[in-house]
Amino acid sequence: MRRKIVAGNWKMNGSKDLVNSLVGHVRSELASLDNGVEAVIIPPALFVGDVIRQSGGKVAVGVQNIACWDSGAYTGEISAVMARDAGCDYALVGHSERRQLFGETDEQVAVKVVRALASGLDAVICVGETLEEREAGTAVSVVSGQVRRAVADVESGQWRQVVIAYEPVWAIGTGKTATAEDAQAMHSAIRAELASLGAPAEKISLLYGGSVKADNAAALFAQPDIDGGLIGGASLNANDFVSICRALPGKS
Ligand code: PEP
Repeated sequence: MRRKIVAGNWKMNGSKDLVNSLVGHVRSELASLDNGVEAVIIPPALFVGDVIRQSGGKVAVGVQNIACWDSGAYTGEISAVMARDAGCDYALVGHSERRQLFGETDEQVAVKVVRALASGLDAVICVGETLEEREAGTAVSVVSGQVRRAVADVESGQWRQVVIAYEPVWAIGTGKTATAEDAQAMHSAIRAELASLGAPAEKISLLYGGSVKADNAAALFAQPDIDGGLIGGASLNANDFVSICRALPGKS
């Protein structure tokens, strides 16, 4: 049985007011949901403690990025160990905005995955092709390569902490979504890549991300290899986020 996860990446948005109004609402709405969804809120790091306090242990919490090191003279960085110590359950690793805007490389992503897993965090590893790569017909090889390099140093006992989020770069924040069929095809390719690496691929949750909204979530989540979503913009609205959580069918 794979975990079914809907994770909200707030990016550099939000405030204490948003935490106060959104988290309690999500928590109480999820109490009546029986589809087994694990909801995760990934706010800016400054608000992690506030989200944890409001979540009452019913909503998991993550950070959007971690450092390549555990501690030291790295001004402005936050380590996986610290995120875990602060009560986080998850770390996003390799989001396309980190890769594109901050020059994060596959090698750094792999190191961050190691740090996250060693600290006890689950790593949501983000992969995805650009529009140019999709148009050139290289999407599957690009994404498979990102997956392969990101998990290169995962140890056999750590796979249960690994989640992969397929987020086509051209779909993030643009209002354009992959069709359910295209998303399914890529998820299937990612699962095949994981299997070829010796990972327990059938047990690893694969999330889709990229302009998921309340009205397109159900079609995406109905696909056999899509185990949930990584949600940006729509996670900033409590009703939209809850509707997306509701769109996840109960499935194994
Ligand atoms: C994201 O930030 O990971 C994301 C998928 O954003 P959006 O849902 O806004 O496209």
